[in-house]
Amino acid sequence: MTKRDVYLDYVASTPLCQECIDAMYYAMTSLYGNPSSTHHFGRKSNVIIEQSRRMIADLLYCSPKNLAFTSGATEAIHLGIKSICMAYKPTAIITSKLEHIATLKAVEESAMLFSIPLVYTQHNEKGDIDLSDLDKNLQQYPSSLLCLMHANNEIGNLLPVQEVGEMCKKYHTLFFCDMVQTIGKYDIALSEMPVDFAVASAHKFYGPKATGLFYYTHKIESLLSGGSQERNMRAGTENIYGIYGTAKALQKNMDNLKEIQTSVSNIKSYCIEQLMRISNDIVFVGGCEEGGLYNLLNFYIRDKNTDTIRMQLDIAGIAVSSSSACSSGSEQQSHVLSALGIKSKSLRVSFGIQTTKEDIDYLIQTLSTLRNRD
Ligand code: PLP
Repeated sequence: MTKRDVYLDYVASTPLCQECIDAMYYAMTSLYGNPSSTHHFGRKSNVIIEQSRRMIADLLYCSPKNLAFTSGATEAIHLGIKSICMAYKPTAIITSKLEHIATLKAVEESAMLFSIPLVYTQHNEKGDIDLSDLDKNLQQYPSSLLCLMHANNEIGNLLPVQEVGEMCKKYHTLFFCDMVQTIGKYDIALSEMPVDFAVASAHKFYGPKATGLFYYTHKIESLLSGGSQERNMRAGTENIYGIYGTAKALQKNMDNLKEIQTSVSNIKSYCIEQLMRISNDIVFVGGCEEGGLYNLLNFYIRDKNTDTIRMQLDIAGIAVSSSSACSSGSEQQSHVLSALGIKSKSLRVSFGIQTTKEDIDYLIQTLSTLRNRD
């Protein structure tokens, strides 16, 4: 078996598309005026930011007025949740134990800071939110803030956003939705969705790292002050390279969405098929096997040490992840698997436009070799 480099961690981050690189190169070499400066160098930078905002708004079917650029989704989540709590004093923050760590921290800190009750809504053993428990919580705390993610970044479960949003409307609850794993991967019309706030991250859709989007439909007083950039929503000189690169990456993705969805879904199905062919001991976690995000699989092999397998895969040139990249530096169990009551660690394998069947064959051959070794 010839060693090759195989990247199977697209949920953690993606390579930049050429359109994004070209846009960033142009911005880096030509747009050095501060976008807030009134001279023509500044105005030229500002024009690109506003053009990018308009492009993104058109692609996501919303108004550019409802979009602010941030330094990534983590910042957008903290900025959003804390500012909403400060502005609206919700009766409770309702969330789930399966959220990304950035949300879990933002809700904990907001609850402390503003003395707001924090409620964790239930989920089933597969990781789907229990809608009847959610209904009970919303009924108990009308005019609360609900923070739930659209797609889980570890196990791939998708939230029925429409239904949840309608429940929120019924109970006058604000809905903050982490759409980091769906914006750029699905055709999303933000203005038609029953969400009040949403966040996205460019490096999940072949755009630059450290550029995020905050979508807001209600005016809030931003906690990040010290400049009037982003209509007072996010103080600080804008990351013009990242912003222009994000717009171009999103455009490329949305222009080719059907093709990407088909080829990546086929790779996922092929991977499931091949994994099941080599072992009866593969256990898929959460909702990734049937439905769920079309570019993610999460599994473990019964009675095998996942950390050892992951390291051996890495030695063979294959990059997979054990949980969320943001916490995978630590050797702890994933909080999502713990919340599902799973003791074993697992492998998260995720695919993108560059993933080929040969990559999957190499993964499968390597896993088979490891299995036969012990
Ligand atoms: N939310 C989800 C669901 C994610 O997957 C991630 C990144 O992995 C984040 C938030 C944080 O995004 P960023 O890396 O832009 O801070």
